Amino acid sequence: MPVNTVAYKEIIDQFLLTDTTLVAVSKTKPNEDILALYELGQRDFGENYVQELVDKAAALPKDIRWHFIGHLQSNKVKYIAPFVHLIHGVDSLKLLREINKQAAKCNRVIPCLLQIYIAKEESKFGLDEVELLEIMDVSSTLTNISIQGFMGMASFTENTAIIQSEFNHLSLLFKKHISWIKSQGISKPILSMGMSGDYSIAIEQGSNMVRIGSLLFGARNYAQ
Ligand SMILES: *Cc1c(COP(=O)(O)O)cnc(C)c1O
Repeated sequence: MPVNTVAYKEIIDQFLLTDTTLVAVSKTKPNEDILALYELGQRDFGENYVQELVDKAAALPKDIRWHFIGHLQSNKVKYIAPFVHLIHGVDSLKLLREINKQAAKCNRVIPCLLQIYIAKEESKFGLDEVELLEIMDVSSTLTNISIQGFMGMASFTENTAIIQSEFNHLSLLFKKHISWIKSQGISKPILSMGMSGDYSIAIEQGSNMVRIGSLLFGARNYAQ
């Protein structure tokens, strides 16, 4: 299936008006699909798997900003530390410490988002409020990471009221801590929420970074 450039242009026009960043989620998709959007000016791309990201980053233009949006295992941080633009899914202190350590080895500061648990599904990852406070506290002492905001995923459901309330919960938490994020030197704190199926609700609830895959690239085939 070809890349949906019509949908891309509509989304990007809408996002420009609301100052929302589009992360085009290209996991499982070939390099030529990424290049099709790159040609139209897209620079932020999101990937979930470390090896796939490393391979794509090596093969594709160097000015692409690579977002790691999947569940990151501590032992794999070293592979993406040299080049990753933003890690969305920081969900433990152990992982944050490892990112800090690998970033130091690369002589850089790695921007991170803290992933907050908002869905009523056990399968989803993320921090609860107690863990969030703990990680924020410690993060101030880590010199090679920068916490730029929060990320969350709503439940996988058709029930828009549930999605709305989960995003609202995250948005309130973000507002509560926005002054702390700014105090860490971040002028524009990031709230990463919304995917193909729920991004309009996410933007209504205050998201300023949206991760869209299937709407742009077509459905994913994991069996390939
Ligand atoms: C795959 C993925 C997306 C994109 O999902 P679509 O429904 O295809 O838009 C967004 N965020 C995360 C964390 C993902 O894993």
